[in-house]
Amino acid sequence: MFTTHEIRTERGILQYRRESLTGIRCRISPVRIERQIDSAPALPDSRERCPFCSDAINASTPTFGDGSRLHCGESVTFPNLYPFAKHHVVTVITTEHEPGRLSARHLADAISGTTQAMIRSPGYASINWNYLPSAGASIVHPHLQGIVDAEPTRLVDLYLSAGRRYLVDHGHLYWDDLVDRERCSERFLFEDEIFWSANPVPLGEREIRGILPISTLDEFEPYIEPLARGIIRIIEFYRDLGTYAFNASIFFDAPGTAGCGHRAFCSLIARLNPNSLSMCDSAFMERLHLEPVILTLPEDLGALFREKS
Ligand SMILES: [Zn+2]
Repeated sequence: MFTTHEIRTERGILQYRRESLTGIRCRISPVRIERQIDSAPALPDSRERCPFCSDAINASTPTFGDGSRLHCGESVTFPNLYPFAKHHVVTVITTEHEPGRLSARHLADAISGTTQAMIRSPGYASINWNYLPSAGASIVHPHLQGIVDAEPTRLVDLYLSAGRRYLVDHGHLYWDDLVDRERCSERFLFEDEIFWSANPVPLGEREIRGILPISTLDEFEPYIEPLARGIIRIIEFYRDLGTYAFNASIFFDAPGTAGCGHRAFCSLIARLNPNSLSMCDSAFMERLHLEPVILTLPEDLGALFREKS
């Protein structure tokens, strides 16, 4: 499912990995972790001017066409004031500005609210989460973003086209073959309704993916709770490893495409903690070459997960 070309450098190894299905590539250089550029999180104290805190949210956020916001448990969903997709909603997860630890209930409600708001618009949907400024969040208060467009984003397009080709060529789903293969690897983490493992060709540091047994947003509802539980478990694993900031995305195929070769999947990557130097883990290889340099071998993540849980 992927190839590895390894060379020895003066101080260790360097691996070039390529995912066979999509051609996605990365480089893994474990020695770079010795630079120790990540530090304890320096959390910005922005509670006072936060537009998502409960005393400000009604005055500072827009409403849908009918003048409403969507409430699901503690979460509130509304249109993004600065959209970069045809349909772009924001869901504030908790009334709490900086919840120490989020519960699976909070997250499931927020994912459910985002889903209800997006299901009104046909197209290629994803639910996304930037947590903390070093992961690209402009507001610290935890919030999800749902986007829907007529065309899939580049990554989804790669998996959809290659997945459909694979189904035609092999007569079965790439994702089923992948799960069978990964279940027996060092990268496997855990499995309930959703299959969780470290991605062998990571798009970012410590990338973990959860593969759902469905492909579209309208099939998603029964899997929201197990997905929320799984995401919380991964976030806590990241915290045990010392990283608080992360990005997460859940990618869906368009409505009416069930059985066309895709599986909805959730991807999480750890990011550097917020720091006073604005040190960041995205540089020219990640942003311009689209070939991330990774420090942690995905095979080590399985062992670390078992050690911490
Ligand atoms: Zn707040």
